[in-house]
Amino acid sequence: MKESSSNNGASLRAEVNPPEICLNVIDGKSIQSDKLIPVIDPSTGDKITSIAEADQDIVGQAVLSAKKTFQMGTWRNTRIEERQSILRSVADLIDREAKSLAGLECLNTGIPMAHLLQGQIPRAALNFRFFADYIGQTEGDLYTQNSDFLTFVRRDPVGVAALIGPWNAPLALLTMKAAAAIAFGNSCVVKPSEQTPLTMFAMMNLLKEAGVPDGVVNLVNGSGSVTGSALCSHPDIDRISFTGGTETGRAIMSAAANNLTPVTMELGGKSANIIFKSADLDRALDGALLGIFSNNGQQCLAGSRILLEESIAKDFIEKFKKRAGQVRVGDPFDPRTEIGALGSIAHRDRVLSFVEKGINDGAELICGGKSIDDNNGAYMAPTAMQVSNNSAQICQEEIFGPFAVFQTFSSTTEAFEIANDTDFGLVSYVWSDDLSVITAAQAELRSGLVWVNTPMVRELRAPFGGFSDSGIGREGGKACESFYTEEKTVTVPTRKLELNKLGKE
Ligand code: NAP
Repeated sequence: MKESSSNNGASLRAEVNPPEICLNVIDGKSIQSDKLIPVIDPSTGDKITSIAEADQDIVGQAVLSAKKTFQMGTWRNTRIEERQSILRSVADLIDREAKSLAGLECLNTGIPMAHLLQGQIPRAALNFRFFADYIGQTEGDLYTQNSDFLTFVRRDPVGVAALIGPWNAPLALLTMKAAAAIAFGNSCVVKPSEQTPLTMFAMMNLLKEAGVPDGVVNLVNGSGSVTGSALCSHPDIDRISFTGGTETGRAIMSAAANNLTPVTMELGGKSANIIFKSADLDRALDGALLGIFSNNGQQCLAGSRILLEESIAKDFIEKFKKRAGQVRVGDPFDPRTEIGALGSIAHRDRVLSFVEKGINDGAELICGGKSIDDNNGAYMAPTAMQVSNNSAQICQEEIFGPFAVFQTFSSTTEAFEIANDTDFGLVSYVWSDDLSVITAAQAELRSGLVWVNTPMVRELRAPFGGFSDSGIGREGGKACESFYTEEKTVTVPTRKLELNKLGKE
């Protein structure tokens, strides 16, 4: 492992200007609270700022603001061209502020600046542009078979959406939800992870500047157990869109069930990255490294179980080990850094605890497996283990860090069996130039996404989501339209039809 020099990032780090406190923003006004929770820079352990935790009462104010705004109809009745133009302005403002947003995200998450500037921040802008375009092109259903009646289906906004996001890609994921919810005319209450509130707090100013009316997007900060649970159990919430861990998803669904609130759940993953001998192995190696080490390995989509056809395994693992040893770990602000600091020291230690669990289950350590002590940051070496038994904990539990697990297979059937032998089902990666293998993979693999001969590609037009413990529902163009709108069937007679006259003499 190469460590990148922290000096290269010092000037970028110095330019970041975090707020003194991340307040709640309700109906355009900043709302203080009695309880402050510190926000930590995972690359140094230093306190960056605090959040003012929204308790049940403040959450209630946020929901009421969203509800009143929705009922007033200012936003949902805005002409579509105007709504599109405002959403596009939001995207333009994200582009304008890209460096500053990336700096805040880098400071708060430890994700490398280069990755943020190339991936997550442009993606946040794209989310708004995508939904601006989408709402201008939607089509409705019309039924004309019955010549006496014209029946058509309206799609009306649902009301108030609760949008809850995780800490591993805060802005990219929360803006997907917010852009979709408001594009279809809804109001919303957004809750970022208490760990990573900085970029969503900054976004509130950009939304205002772009012309999104006050009360359409409200922000509550705080922990999941206080702020999140008050939000999810509020009776005036019409939709909950959640991205986070599977256990939290279960708790939120239970709270939502009381109010019959529809939910989408984008949850954890333990995705198989299956590499056949028929693959372009150089590309597969690049893909495997990106699949597990991008975004510090903290991705629901991570290709964390690398399944290799036996005849290529030894050579492939050696090459992987060499490249993993050259991955630059260090200050996330350093433009050359490829893996920064993990989300927190506690999280880094949890990730590393899987090395011993792996050894207990008979796994062999290939590389890494240790922390890097640098300036109290949550750093660790890119890690890989090899194991023969798919029931090992390192094969079944989501580790959520730069930690790959290798296994081998001797037939296509065995590869698919191992890949499907998991409670999760988010992505399957397949590398092969044999069309029959690729075709079989698409049919047999039990996951919401199958990526063939490529690392992660997010096509916003297509549904995104998982099978089993990886989630419920989908995000994407049509999927979001369906989630954030209610269908209303309207029937109108085409002429004055004779009616039965009840009670007539
Ligand atoms: P998490 O602990 O489940 O937290 C996610 C969000 O839920 C945070 O904002 C959290 O608040 C909040 N929360 C916690 N308990 C809650 C409750 N009872 N009611 C309402 N909200 C509650 O997940 P994480 O550790 O932040 O994120 C990592 C997980 O997200 C991984 O499992 C990863 O696979 C998954 N993920 C999935 C996708 C996908 O698209 N499928 C994408 C990214 C990440 P606090 O943090 O403030 O407590």
